Amino acid sequence: MERKGRRLVLFPLPLQGHVNPMLELANILYYKGFSISIIHTSLNSPNPSKHSHFTFHAINEGLSVSKTSVIDGGFLSLLNTKCVEPFKECLARLLSDVSEEPIACLISDCLFYFTRATAESFKLPRFVLRTSSATSFHVLAAFPILRERGYLPIQDSQKEEPVVEFPPLRVKDLPALPAIDTSVDPTAFYQQVYSLVNETKASSGLICNTFEDLEQSALTTLGLDFPIPIFPIGPFHKTILASSSSSSSSSSSSLLNEDQTCISWLATQPHKSVIYVSFGSIAELNETEFLEVAWGLANSNQPFLWVVRPGLVHGSEWLEPLPHGFLENLNGRGKIVKWAPQLQVLVHPSTGAFWTHSGWNSTLESICEGVPMICTPRLVDQMVNARYVSHVWKVGLQLENGLERAEIEKTIRKLMVEKESEEIKYRASKLKEKANLCLKQDGSSYKALDSLVSHILSLESFSFQAQRP
Ligand code: UDP
Repeated sequence: MERKGRRLVLFPLPLQGHVNPMLELANILYYKGFSISIIHTSLNSPNPSKHSHFTFHAINEGLSVSKTSVIDGGFLSLLNTKCVEPFKECLARLLSDVSEEPIACLISDCLFYFTRATAESFKLPRFVLRTSSATSFHVLAAFPILRERGYLPIQDSQKEEPVVEFPPLRVKDLPALPAIDTSVDPTAFYQQVYSLVNETKASSGLICNTFEDLEQSALTTLGLDFPIPIFPIGPFHKTILASSSSSSSSSSSSLLNEDQTCISWLATQPHKSVIYVSFGSIAELNETEFLEVAWGLANSNQPFLWVVRPGLVHGSEWLEPLPHGFLENLNGRGKIVKWAPQLQVLVHPSTGAFWTHSGWNSTLESICEGVPMICTPRLVDQMVNARYVSHVWKVGLQLENGLERAEIEKTIRKLMVEKESEEIKYRASKLKEKANLCLKQDGSSYKALDSLVSHILSLESFSFQAQRP
């Protein structure tokens, strides 16, 4: 690909579900001819050696894992305060470096809403990346109306009622912080939502990791509501494969070590027999829920591959709450790892279903491989994603009544072995085809990516780098 002679500065939020799509986007734009500089926090910093074609610039925001081990509503506001000065200094340094190509724009995670003021102070165009679904963003953008009409804050007595403005969502599907998070009052959470929506509206464009056929309605409404262009260029991890003609995507932005032994274990299991279980990088379970999951899996009689990341079980290091001999008694039918190479697992022929917390990356990755899902959403956008999986795309089932072993067993068996799941599997395979089609020449994401590139190049940057000799 011919080089564009322009550099892009990308700024990922330091959480796994945000770092992955931002680095995937970086790869996509690199293959489109841009040079890439990544500014990143010291917290959860990516490994530069895995992306030698980018330059990395760490800022010292002073956040440590211990301060942020519980990701609550306060985390976001802390990030948006602590990063302001070090980010500004770093960006100023990059802009004034005349030995490098001029910077065309900043692309920041939409949750880094403070970056609007910084980019404006340098007169640098700023795009934002939405790493979750367009639908959940559409719902967040409607928060003022949803509050006015009494849906928010969510009252226990209204949880099951429909949100008539957003079918098929119910009140309990609206984005919310987990019930255990008492550190942020709802008003502070709403304030953050307003900030991120308003600062997105003030950007030069919104980049979404989705595709038109998947979220047509939300994308259309956002397009009408937002005075900026929207670029649905996903699914990112598949776009990289399409543009780089390499056989594996950049799953190497993993912040934890991926346990490859699960791939050889999968190879010993029958075709489409394994249920892959992962609740992502943030969600926590209490000990009772963890044991219900364990017994539900054991009693389902299906082979399972379960990611139990250290910290998943609140108050435990790792597997201590499991009964002695739990895995051994399953005679090889279960495998537990701390972190899996998820993209490889989902593409594996032995994988038959994905029991997920409905994080957007996981949802999209599953859709792209035609793997049907069981959904256990825990926080914020996950409830919206889960409802769409079960009731709009109809490629999965949602566990509605918390985590209880008998219901888990029943739901796994329903999806994996019973006849009525045939339609779900068929729809999943059709949606996979659509995900592939949008990336082909003249597909919707292919065209949106071309217009993103043209749009970036068309924006005149008036930053002080323009005064270079
Ligand atoms: N992931 C992984 N290995 C695992 C679990 C998750 O590589 O064992 C990756 C997964 O492929 C996805 C990301 O971590 O890209 C999780 O993002 P998601 O939005 O699904 O959930 P979050 O962690 O943000 O809640």
